[in-house]
Amino acid sequence: MNKSASKSINCPTCQRLVQWSEENEFRPFCSQRCQLIDFGEWATEKHSIAGEPFYPVDKDDEEPLQ
Ligand SMILES: [Zn+2]
Repeated sequence: MNKSASKSINCPTCQRLVQWSEENEFRPFCSQRCQLIDFGEWATEKHSIAGEPFYPVDKDDEEPLQ
């Protein structure tokens, strides 16, 4: 059984444990989904989301629909 030698972090969006590896192109996020969500959170202030698909994450606060 191998011990994980790679560094683990928590995804800033969903707090899920993520392996910090070069293979993870979405780090520090766990997935492109969370990367886009984080992008969407600050982009929402500018209302400048362009073209990229956006999938809401499960949160208590609701994102305003455009
Ligand atoms: Zn995540």
